[in-house]
Amino acid sequence: MSILDIRVLGDPVLRQETKVVTEFTDELQRLIDDMFETMRHARGIGLAAPQVGRAERLAVVDLGDDPFVIINPEVIVSSAARVRGEEGCLSIPDIYGDVERPKSVTVRALSRHGEPFERDASDLLARCVQHEIDHLHGKLFLDYLSVLKRTAALAKWKLQAADYPGYVRRVALETPDDLDEHGHREEEL
Ligand code: ZN
Repeated sequence: MSILDIRVLGDPVLRQETKVVTEFTDELQRLIDDMFETMRHARGIGLAAPQVGRAERLAVVDLGDDPFVIINPEVIVSSAARVRGEEGCLSIPDIYGDVERPKSVTVRALSRHGEPFERDASDLLARCVQHEIDHLHGKLFLDYLSVLKRTAALAKWKLQAADYPGYVRRVALETPDDLDEHGHREEEL
């Protein structure tokens, strides 16, 4: 398995629509394994294919005990109840913002071998799945912020964007143990 470079804000690939996956090849299995590896190394809880520069409509999710992949995912039911919560993104390091989303969703997707499944998700898992599905349609959590908050976030980003030449974040070179002194980390998706 290899750790892939993560594309950061500014790379046009993050704004592109992905392509429906129709073939479940060995190459696709390798991509999925590499994405899991990259997400774990970057200490994320979700990672979508455009974030590693790919156009396949798939994402990996792992809140800690139940990693899974969603291929060609669709939200088929959303709760009327909505909640605000802080989000970050592996492609926009160190920038956070509150986003309001449905509290629970039901997602229909294909497994890594093409079997259809449905899955109910609520709270953080629902938030994560919705954030990843947005990525598959070129949408970022910044798009939900008010103009004022988005402007502030982009100004902060501008100061650190130079740390990522070519819009590439080399996760493999980052220290794997960057927990703070309380063993806490921010969650990025
Ligand atoms: Zn993200």
